[in-house]
Amino acid sequence: MVWLTAVLFSQDESGKIIPMNEKEYFPKRAMSIHAHPDDQEFTVAGTLARWVQSGCEVVSVIVTSGEAGSNDPSRGSDFKLELARMREAEQSSANAELGILETIFLHYPDGELEPTLPLRRDLTRLIRQYKPEVVVIGDPQGLFYGNGYINHPDHRAAAQAALYAVFPSSETRLIFTDLLADGVEPHKVKRLYVHGSEKSDTWIDIASTIGIKISALKKHVSQLGDWDPKKMIREWASEEGKEHGLEYAEAYKVMILSEEEDRG
Ligand SMILES: [Zn+2]
Repeated sequence: MVWLTAVLFSQDESGKIIPMNEKEYFPKRAMSIHAHPDDQEFTVAGTLARWVQSGCEVVSVIVTSGEAGSNDPSRGSDFKLELARMREAEQSSANAELGILETIFLHYPDGELEPTLPLRRDLTRLIRQYKPEVVVIGDPQGLFYGNGYINHPDHRAAAQAALYAVFPSSETRLIFTDLLADGVEPHKVKRLYVHGSEKSDTWIDIASTIGIKISALKKHVSQLGDWDPKKMIREWASEEGKEHGLEYAEAYKVMILSEEEDRG
């Protein structure tokens, strides 16, 4: 982990926004876990790009391949394999744009995801193998966003499985002992960044990376078609940042699971 000077704001227990004079946290290795190709780009890509620029290695885990992401009436179930391939390629291009070198697809079924023990075990294995300092997920409690969007159940399922893979499964030796038998040793994640939370307490300044976020999102051509997401992404980020003195921001609830800091 390295420390770089940056503006960071937080909220005290009464909800008051307070500038934090401490230096911003930049992990050395982070893992982003999301249900579908494009989830990461719509939500946390500005933060990941910043971390990459600071020297962080980011591992991107996509639980499904997004193969249900079409309402074209001329297409049937035989289109799913083709769409999965297309969307995996789009995600890999998006990650290349963000400077993410490692992308892992778990091939769970899109639209039918549940927070099962096998999924938690798969995520636990990855966390133990890659040993991220930080894991970035959605909010498993998020049912509704605004008046118009019901959170996709796959988002909640991936977030819940990832949450409990972070704690307790990754760090507890005698959970999933089949992993131990494979030589996969426990690992303790230091911080969990949860986006889409109603209780955000940390705002990351993405002014320098919002352009990269938008170009990464544009790689998801099968989902965006001719639509240019630039205006909407800038509006969202501006909305997140405006009360915190930031032009563009991404908001998180941050769980600090270990205060132990490696200043190397
Ligand atoms: Zn999604």
